[in-house]
Amino acid sequence: MNANRKTDILFTILIFMSLLFACNPPKNETVNKSTDMEKNNPVYSNTDTSKVVMSEEEWKKILPENVYYIARLKGTERPWSSKYEDFFETGTYYCAACGNPLFKSNAKFESSCGWPSFFEPISKESIIYTPDDSHGMHRTEVQCGRCKAHLGHVFDDGPKPTGLRYCINGVVLNFEKAEKN
Ligand SMILES: [Zn+2]
Repeated sequence: MNANRKTDILFTILIFMSLLFACNPPKNETVNKSTDMEKNNPVYSNTDTSKVVMSEEEWKKILPENVYYIARLKGTERPWSSKYEDFFETGTYYCAACGNPLFKSNAKFESSCGWPSFFEPISKESIIYTPDDSHGMHRTEVQCGRCKAHLGHVFDDGPKPTGLRYCINGVVLNFEKAEKN
């Protein structure tokens, strides 16, 4: 085999290898899609209404770090950092920790407060309300009705018809676009 022929074969192998890799998209890109959530998270469901009770250790294993920080450690995302803040597609927002349906897009409004805001939840059962006197303020914390993930707070300066403003961390929301009929 002469040198040119060797180079040709090597070149062909290289092309073939790069095609193989090109067909495998980077894994991180789709990490927030609910299908991936379901894969890594045994309790994730948009239809199961049974309450989720799990140890913090287990939550830490199955949730992405940013979701765990807000949902379980009651953290707050930086204002104006959420992709859902200035976002008005038609669909449903689910709890990113357990898949529980929380808000419909038609209850979302432009609050300019820096976090995704809604004037009402999907149902009474979708949210749990807890008094929160931390940081020298009297606030009402809102948690997921199914898994008790911390979502944000509710204030009484919202628009009609409820007058409420559910100020929610976008990290703990998982949006799914409505299917077109
Ligand atoms: Zn939940």
